[in-house]
Order: sequence, then structure tokens, then C-alpha cells
Amino acid sequence: MILVTGGAGFIGTNFILDWLALHDEPILNIDKLTYAGNRDNLRSIEGDDRHVFEQGDIADARWVMGLLEKHQPRAIINFAAESHVDRSIHCAENFVQTNIVGVFRLLEAARAYWSGLHGDKRAGFRFLQVSTDEVYGSLAPAAAAFRETDRYEPNSPYSASKAAADHLVRASHRTHGLPVLTTNCANNYGPYQFPEKLIPLMINRAIAGQPLPVYGDGWQVRDWLYVKDHCKAVRLVLEAGLPGETYNVGCSDERHNIDVVKAICVLLDELHPRIDAVTYMNQITHVADRPGHDTRYAIDPGKIKVELGWHAEKNFEDGLRETIRWYLQNQGWVADVQNRSVAAR
Ligand code: NAD
Repeated sequence: MILVTGGAGFIGTNFILDWLALHDEPILNIDKLTYAGNRDNLRSIEGDDRHVFEQGDIADARWVMGLLEKHQPRAIINFAAESHVDRSIHCAENFVQTNIVGVFRLLEAARAYWSGLHGDKRAGFRFLQVSTDEVYGSLAPAAAAFRETDRYEPNSPYSASKAAADHLVRASHRTHGLPVLTTNCANNYGPYQFPEKLIPLMINRAIAGQPLPVYGDGWQVRDWLYVKDHCKAVRLVLEAGLPGETYNVGCSDERHNIDVVKAICVLLDELHPRIDAVTYMNQITHVADRPGHDTRYAIDPGKIKVELGWHAEKNFEDGLRETIRWYLQNQGWVADVQNRSVAAR
């Protein structure tokens, strides 16, 4: 069995659904169920005994240790995190608690468990930390894309907390020999993403007839990756990555935020036209920029391509079309996660 944390969130949900479609190996999913975690995401595998769900906090080392002893996983994949930059600017407390303290305690529990393993079980054990390209900071327009050897220069409380976690993961390998792997991935998009993130936010505000708020001039550049391509990269790194190594994951498909919003409007004009037949572009408004907003992220995925044979399968146009269709067909899910998030405040 493998242990996945944060498996009721956006990427964790996609990872678990894909994993169980491909493997018979069971998954133990531990999730605190914050506003971003939703058990209903996993309704299609309810009753499937390959999926075991436990609600709790990765920072509760004793509880995690008990689960490790009971279920004896061969690997831990840590998706659990506070993940929204805007929330980290408003209040970073939970980011420090989960992304730093939580990862530290999870690592300690993993190390204690791994130390008690023997033979092949010990040699084969892996701790995979799912991280972000945001730890590298902001790139100048013509600068080369982020490589694994680049310096960490995080600019938001979110990216600083993820950077701290990555350092703790690295240290647990260098100091204690824990067989860790780290992935630093570009912006993801796809089904089940909480509608506070750029792509689902714009889709849902557009069809609700609300303004589409673009930070500043919208000229920030991001590299967008379809979530299932990220999940495939995590599976590959888990099976074939070298302990202690870091792998950048992205598809070298850089786009300005304003162009992403316009692409959503064009697709919505086709798939879900406004009743007045006016384009959704008319709803775009520019708002004051996010403080410390990084100008550009771009990933060089050369290492994972050459060493592990990974490549992205979905291009942005197809992935965005599928994502918009998913949100149009799952408006009940959107209303539900928004209502539960308001109720939890
Ligand atoms: P998400 O916010 O959608 O989900 C996070 C999940 O973690 C939720 O289910 C939440 O309930 C759970 N969680 C939060 N705190 C917890 C705790 N203390 N203990 C146990 N569970 C807890 O996030 P996501 O977008 O799915 O991101 C998953 C991981 O991937 C994060 O580590 C994030 O930093 C990283 N990442 C995300 C992106 C992206 O574009 N979304 C890109 C690169 C890396």
C-alpha cells in the first residue's frame, strides 16, 4: 500500500482516481479536510476497499505513526498543504503550521517508521514531497527556465513555506538517509480544483455573470500543466526517481494570465454562450496587483524527460476545453464546495 496525504484536495483527488484506475495497490488517504478538502470528490470509489480514508492532521505525528505501523505503506506521497497564495498574504499562520511544522512532523514519523524496516522493505521505502515551481521565485522575461540546480528565492508566504518544507525534506535525506524524492511542478489545472484558483475562478465567475478580476495588467507569465500529466510525473518519480533527487515538472507552455482568461472567454462563448450573445470578454476587469506578485515562472523539464521518460500528453487548448466542460457539468460540486467553505469560516 501507499500513503497519500491531502488526497481529498485537487491534485490528490486526481492522483488517487488515476492510481486506482491503473493499479490494484491500495491507498491510505489521510486528509484534514480543510476548506480545500472534499470527500465527495472520491464518491466514485466509495466502497472500493483499495481506498482507506482517515481524517486527521499531518502535524499529529503520533496519529500518523500509528497509521504507519498499522498499514505498513511502502511509500508516502505528501500532497497535503495550504496552497493558495492570496490566503497566505492575508494570513500565513496555517501555511507555517501545515507546510512547515506539518511536513517536519510527517518526516519525523516517516523516519521513525523507516528506521524500523528491514531488508527490501527498508531499501524500497520512499517519501515523495510534492512541491511547486514557486520556490524558485520570479524570472525575468528572457531568463532561462527554472532548473533543479537553481537557487530558491521564494517571494510569497506560500512559496516560502513550501521552500522551507523542501529544505527539511532534503535535510532528512542528507542527515538521516531517509530516501526522499521531491517534485517541483508548474501551475496545474483540471477537474476538482477549488474555485479560488485562476482557471476555475474565471470559469465560474463568467457563467455567474460576475466581473472577471485580472491582477494588474495580466502580463504575468505561468507555465500550465494539466493535472493528470502532473499525476503521471509523480507516479514515475515514485517508481524510478533516485532518492535525494529533485525533478522539475512542467510542459514549457508559457502563457500570460490575460491570455488564459481570454482563452476561457472564447471557449465559453462557444460552449456556453451568454443569453444576450455578448462575449464573456466584456466581463474582464483589471484590479490592483497582488503584493509581491511574481512576474514569470517557467519550468525546464529536461531532467524528468531524459532520466525518466516523462512528457506531457495534454496540450493547453484540449486540457482547457475539457476543464471548462467539467465545470459546466459539475456546477453542483462548485456550489457545494463554496457553501462549505463559507460555512467553515
Ligand atoms: P489543495 O489546496 O486543493 O488540497 C490540499 C489538501 O490538503 C486538502 O484536501 C486539504 O484538506 C489537505 N490538508 C491541508 N492541510 C492539511 C493537514 N495539516 N493535514 C492533512 N491534510 C491537510 O492543493 P492542491 O492544489 O491539490 O496541491 C497539492 C500539493 O501540490 C500542494 O502541496 C501544493 O503545494 C502542490 N502544488 C500545487 C500546484 C497547483 O497548481 N495546484 C502546483 C504545484 C505544486
